[in-house]
Amino acid sequence: MSDGGPVSEDRSAAEDRSANEESEDRSAAEDRSANEESEDRSAAEDRSADEESEDRSAAEDRSANEQSEDRSAAEHRSAPTLYDGVRGQERAVAQLRAAARAPVHAYLFVGPPGSGKRSAAHAFAASLLCPDGGCNACRACTLALAAHHPDLIVVERTGPFISVDQAREIVRQASLSPVEGGRKVLLLVDFHLVQNAAPMLLKIIEEPPAGTVFVILTEQVPPELVTIASRCVRIDFRTLRHDEVVEALLADGVDLHQAHEIADAAAGRLDRARLLASDPEFEARRRVWRALPGELDGTGATVARLVDHLGAVLDSAAMAPLEARHAAEVADLAERVERYGERGAGRRQMEERHKRERRRLRTDELRFGLATLQAGYRDALAAGQGDMQAWLAAVDRLHAAAEALVRNPSEALLLQALLLDLPPLPTEVVPA
Ligand SMILES: [Zn+2]
Repeated sequence: MSDGGPVSEDRSAAEDRSANEESEDRSAAEDRSANEESEDRSAAEDRSADEESEDRSAAEDRSANEQSEDRSAAEHRSAPTLYDGVRGQERAVAQLRAAARAPVHAYLFVGPPGSGKRSAAHAFAASLLCPDGGCNACRACTLALAAHHPDLIVVERTGPFISVDQAREIVRQASLSPVEGGRKVLLLVDFHLVQNAAPMLLKIIEEPPAGTVFVILTEQVPPELVTIASRCVRIDFRTLRHDEVVEALLADGVDLHQAHEIADAAAGRLDRARLLASDPEFEARRRVWRALPGELDGTGATVARLVDHLGAVLDSAAMAPLEARHAAEVADLAERVERYGERGAGRRQMEERHKRERRRLRTDELRFGLATLQAGYRDALAAGQGDMQAWLAAVDRLHAAAEALVRNPSEALLLQALLLDLPPLPTEVVPA
């Protein structure tokens, strides 16, 4: 029972502590954010009464010696902010905190994009590589959180799928001894795209050399990943709710009104929400999409003009903040290459990821635009004015257009066909 440990540890440690230590702990506890406290609460609620009584008798059995070991474990666990970058994943974080005390050889993080798998993986790696189990302050923690620790190997794809060459490289890396301590972590990204590289990796993931821990990130578990998945401890990440994205943005210092609009545009993805929050042009782009139905007049000439304009809007969308982040990563890589050499620096992986992020940004923006258009017609339906049949058809048409995006259509053709189909929505029905 993996959850059995923490309850009994906490209790016996608490009984053992001097008043002095207790007051230190109390102030540490007060320091924690409301977010982490709710994480702990939900973890506690998850445990059944049955498990607790087992823990109690186990605790009574233990020697004083064991109890002092527990105390130091509990002190390590109180690391205040290791998982601060991960929002709304209380269950996953509680599982990872428990797992860090006695890690197995492989973990599979399953969840949609933007749900915090990557941040959680860095924090988990820190807790495995830190001599104090994740103090969030030492060199090992700092390096692991930034994904720069020499014993945290991040493997990202350089093509549309995980290639056989990459699989070979993963096997090689996993077999090397750790550079600094007794452990190394291999972080494998985008494994829903593992395809035919999977069989090559099964053996090493199933039985890696002692000290090697795999953390595998995937958006879903496709058939080719099922066998690997069965050899891993699975940790699930969920899509954040609108209010959770709002809350995270408020904590970042975004104002309430803007936080709601950004959360609408981010569709549960905190990474995208944070990018939009750093983008001064976001509100202007939202207005362009929102005003669009009011500009339609049923003519092809107007549609052609609007499609041109939207193309320009998409060209500029949130590129500045993304490029600023990419530039910072490039500079960071240059510094590391200067110090440690090009080998293993992951330049190609980084460049490929930047390319993917730029493409994805554009699709995300288009998706956001379609959702904003749809909101206009929904508002018209809610207002109960004008041609209700036409508004209803428009909502359906926009839904179909959003679904078509997964097939990577030509953006201009999609917008042209869409705008020719959409009914003009006079601003007297719904103010833009
Ligand atoms: Zn540390």
